[in-house]
Amino acid sequence: MDTIGHLIAGKHRAGSSGESKPVFNPATGQQTATISLASIAEVDEAVQVAQRTYEEWRTVSIAKKTKLMYTFRDIVDRNSSEIARRLTAEHGKVLSDSAGEVARGLENIEFACGMAESLKGSYSENASTGVDVYTVRRPLGVVAGITPFNFPAMIPLWTIPNAVAAGNAFVLKPSERDPSCPMFIAELFHEAGFPDGLLNVVNGDKTAVDALLEHNLVRAISFVGSTPIAKYIYTTAAANGKRVQALGGAKNHMVVLPDADIDQAADAAVSAAYGSAGERCMAISVIVAVGNVADPLVAAIKDRTKQLVIGPGDDAASDMGPLITAEHRDRVAGYIDAGAAAGADVVVDGREQSFDGDGFFLGVSLIDNVTTDMSVYTDEIFGPVISVVRVDTFAESMQLIEANRWGNGTAIFTRDGGAARRFQDEVEAGMVGINVPIPVPVGYHSFGGWNDSFFGDTTMYGPEGMRFYTRPKVMTSRWPDPATSSVDLGFPTNR
Ligand code: NAD
Repeated sequence: MDTIGHLIAGKHRAGSSGESKPVFNPATGQQTATISLASIAEVDEAVQVAQRTYEEWRTVSIAKKTKLMYTFRDIVDRNSSEIARRLTAEHGKVLSDSAGEVARGLENIEFACGMAESLKGSYSENASTGVDVYTVRRPLGVVAGITPFNFPAMIPLWTIPNAVAAGNAFVLKPSERDPSCPMFIAELFHEAGFPDGLLNVVNGDKTAVDALLEHNLVRAISFVGSTPIAKYIYTTAAANGKRVQALGGAKNHMVVLPDADIDQAADAAVSAAYGSAGERCMAISVIVAVGNVADPLVAAIKDRTKQLVIGPGDDAASDMGPLITAEHRDRVAGYIDAGAAAGADVVVDGREQSFDGDGFFLGVSLIDNVTTDMSVYTDEIFGPVISVVRVDTFAESMQLIEANRWGNGTAIFTRDGGAARRFQDEVEAGMVGINVPIPVPVGYHSFGGWNDSFFGDTTMYGPEGMRFYTRPKVMTSRWPDPATSSVDLGFPTNR
């Protein structure tokens, strides 16, 4: 069985802490690898290596950095099927989802290929007589990324390309549940020709995370994960004087108005709620059915659930794979118990579906007549469960979203332009879809929610991400009056 260690200064390390955790294939329930958990000393070594590499890397020309980024882009593209295969083997999502994830990651590398444009800075000529002022964007130094299990390829790629393009060196602490895919991406990064030590991977748990949060050479932390940990990262890293962007959990509402195309809304709900077994921070987990749309919509979603094939992610026939661990599957099932006990109608019950073997499978669930005091509504379930809340008016749907503690993504399904525009103007969320259930911004915009879905002030990837990894330096220069020049300038000085 493989042991997954760390990648420091371009070399694989077995890991010396003596602490480890098992890694599973969720489709079989079998352990496939063991992951070493980094000690504080190992994290320190990775950071020291990154700092030394940064001191050289920051002086490398934009032209050379750009070429390397293009090479990296091509290598990731060429290896996308292999990345997807490794991803499915440890995460469980179906191969088409894994391939889609790699494609979204590639967008971020492509954005970073345009670093020359992003890093141009600005210039004000003659701000005062003979005085020019200009701003350049400089790197921070060593920056760290701490990433969740649910997008082990895409989320590391939300951060690494922009960070290194801007001149920083990187230490990545991936999720300990599916570490092979980020490690493979780091190997491809080295294959592209980036210097050893520019991207280091330390696997680990809280010990490794805390070592990064407290290390005086780490200048910025990019975190993606659950809300309680995001808050912890934000407060701890900020208290240690670091720049932080910490993306947290979510409970994304999809509002369906009575005039919506029911088939379109039902298709969207099924793919956005059950895709990747609901383990997406932008998954739809609440459907707000307005007025008389509720009955036909619930019926249309129920119909579609009968067609869903749940099975191993590497089987082309599967629409949905298993959950990440047995404990998580049982936790999700527990929410269905709680919803039923609280009086909601379990229209489709994922607990009833049985599966062969020991994989961490659970069927999909559709729970109707959910009220806002039930745990299926108040908590992030992070599984294949839709809760339907019925309201009478558009205004009530807006109030519901505003009262919710999270604000990652939201969507409205309607054919009414006025309602859609009002929704996008006023809804309390960072990313909004109009007849688009999962409005994840393309790589040249930036990603981030509001309220308990995000802590920090500069969201991730795209232009905001590039700003996060740079700090402005402003130069003010006074030039001598040309009339006093000792050189014969040969033309009038007042033109
Ligand atoms: P998690 O919070 O359990 O773990 C995220 C990272 O934090 C991992 O690297 C983990 O090792 C580390 N970690 C866990 N506990 C820690 C602790 N006590 N101290 C320090 N570090 C700790 O999240 P997860 O289960 O891997 O991922 C799912 C969560 O991530 C969901 O809540 C989901 O909504 C969220 N998520 C959010 C976004 C977003 O963009 N907002 C994207 C993806 C996932």
